[in-house]
Amino acid sequence: MERVDIAVIGAGAMGSATARALARRGVETVLLERFEFGHTRGSSHGPTRIFRIAYPDPLYSAMAQRALTLWRELEADSGERLLVATGGLDAGPSAHLCGQALEIVGAPFEWLTEEEAGERFPAMSFDGLHPILYQPDAAVCLADRTVAAQLRVAAEGGVEARDQVEVLAIEPGADRVRIRLADDDLEARVVVVTAGSWAGELLSGLGMPLDLTPILQTVAYFEPTNPQAAPVPTFIEWAGPDLVWYALDAAGVGPGLKVGAHVGGVPIDPQDGPFEVDQALAKVESEYVSRRFPGFDPEPVRADTCLYTMTPDEDFVLDRIGPVVVGAGFSGHGFKFAPLIGELLAALALDADPGMDLVRFRASRPAVRQS
Ligand SMILES: Cc1cc2nc3c(=O)[nH]c(=O)nc-3n(C[C@H](O)[C@H](O)[C@H](O)COP(=O)(O)OP(=O)(O)OC[C@H]3O[C@@H](n4cnc5c(N)ncnc54)[C@H](O)[C@@H]3O)c2cc1C
Repeated sequence: MERVDIAVIGAGAMGSATARALARRGVETVLLERFEFGHTRGSSHGPTRIFRIAYPDPLYSAMAQRALTLWRELEADSGERLLVATGGLDAGPSAHLCGQALEIVGAPFEWLTEEEAGERFPAMSFDGLHPILYQPDAAVCLADRTVAAQLRVAAEGGVEARDQVEVLAIEPGADRVRIRLADDDLEARVVVVTAGSWAGELLSGLGMPLDLTPILQTVAYFEPTNPQAAPVPTFIEWAGPDLVWYALDAAGVGPGLKVGAHVGGVPIDPQDGPFEVDQALAKVESEYVSRRFPGFDPEPVRADTCLYTMTPDEDFVLDRIGPVVVGAGFSGHGFKFAPLIGELLAALALDADPGMDLVRFRASRPAVRQS
């Protein structure tokens, strides 16, 4: 049977980042992906994602700051621009908490009145929004390009990346893990599970049931009526405890302004779907654009779907249980941290110091551990 040092399962944002981080350390690594690289059935596809340091929680703000340095290293390694600077706005009640977190981590920001924001960003309407926080480091991540760049740099660093290879099961033994494949099985010293919405199922076979719920999201794209309207800053509207609107610029790669709503969603089977665009949500997004983005045509030019993998507390799972490292449950906000998550999971796989306390992300915490 083929033997490898480390096997990474899943080549989305997190698996490709982990493979690259392991390659940087010269570790023998195989990366296994069940579909074709860059496919559109998981969580990492599409042109764009938001990068922001503003979070209503200083832990994530600090992580985003560390991630920003690693994004710059990834850009240098790959020779590609992967973050397009736009600055970012947070508006509504939780913006206060974002301001507190930014103060704690020492990141710059300023408060804007409704009028000041309207003057600075004329394609948007800030009617009734208070408070409004501007943070200059926010940017648009070029998502598809990032995954491709991480894969390319990992392969250049010696990672053997194989697509169309589905891992059927993981079986930890005394000193190695057997990885069941349709053809020949593999053995690895350590397995890193970065299987997105499929992680729960793979891990449950190990007696490690985690509360990881895949839900389908619909996002829509809108063109500016006046090209002067672009670029707009990344935008988070903290509308209420169960509703967060977000919007981000096309950044030269998307079909338009991307708009979505972080509103929960219906759990789905990542295997069988349904994967159709939620037309009702696309309509609500269009209504939101006519209200908040008057410089854009509210008729969407495209709508797409994508999977979130939710934990009940929306914190990630970053942990090692014996020879199995888990990077899962990114709860719709993981992409901006991808280069950092790669470093953290590589450190866990190598029993090295991750450089931060991962206690909040433990698989054994009551919020995610299923009995
Ligand atoms: C609509 C939407 C908007 C988002 N916006 C933002 C944003 O603005 N900012 C932000 O930071 N984050 C955002 N996110 C979240 C972010 O995109 C995700 O957290 C991140 O992409 C998760 O990556 P992943 O690698 O864990 O999962 P995935 O990309 O799904 O990768 C998992 C991979 O594992 C493979 N796999 C699964 N099972 C197996 C198996 N048995 N064998 C082999 N391979 C397997 C899958 O095929 C898949 O390729 C958004 C997500 C969505 C859906």
